[in-house]
Amino acid sequence: MKTTLGKIVLLSVMPLFMAACATVPYTGRTQVMFTSESEETQMGMQAWDEVLSKYKICKNKKTNALVNRVGRAIAAVADKPEYQWEFKVFETNQANAFCLPGGKVAVFTGILKYMDCEAELAAVVGHEVGHAIARHGGERVSQGMLQQAGAAIVAASVDSPTEQQLALLIYGGATNLGAILPYSRTHEYEADHIGMILMAKAGYDPRYAIKFWEKFSKVSSESELGEWFSTHPIGKHRVEELKKLLPEAMKYYNKAKVKRGGGAKL
Ligand SMILES: [Zn+2]
Repeated sequence: MKTTLGKIVLLSVMPLFMAACATVPYTGRTQVMFTSESEETQMGMQAWDEVLSKYKICKNKKTNALVNRVGRAIAAVADKPEYQWEFKVFETNQANAFCLPGGKVAVFTGILKYMDCEAELAAVVGHEVGHAIARHGGERVSQGMLQQAGAAIVAASVDSPTEQQLALLIYGGATNLGAILPYSRTHEYEADHIGMILMAKAGYDPRYAIKFWEKFSKVSSESELGEWFSTHPIGKHRVEELKKLLPEAMKYYNKAKVKRGGGAKL
């Protein structure tokens, strides 16, 4: 009985798998995707309203002009004309930045003090926009759906309640540790990869990305970095990976129409 139910659940989920694949720009990675980009944008807009009500907007004209200049340059090469691009600076000590699905970008003043020039800001904005255009938010939601469907299949395909509980436990543990955590690391490396290419296409020297992440990783023990580091683990490996990606990014930089180099000093 239960096994039959398991098959039914599996069969009903199968078409979802087949219909739900997307390809990440630049890296070419195939991702499971059950959400549409317009649904993700909708989620992004809701989250943006929360961000706007939670944080204080920075009034400094120079800072706003800088973030907008860098943001527009990155957005112009992101191949997402349908996004509702917007770049806002928020006054807070947190060293954080993010781009919501659909193109709403937040930069916190706390991260700017770690930057020496515009190109380093381009590295961070490029990384965050990289997460958005690679649809990492939608992929996380899809992974959650997959995990739930998987748990339902496991629960339906075992007979005794004890076995069922055990199976769920094993399944849950395996998905959390084996799939979810490494995936977020995958997302970080992927955002680094795309970010470096975007900054290079926008005319910023991609070598500044390595400079920034090297410098930033050294101050990682500072408490105000806490929140960003919980979602953006930085280690030696990350800088090593960036170095490997540099030749590819340099090709884009050499072809860029406008060369900005390091841009203005901060
Ligand atoms: Zn990231």
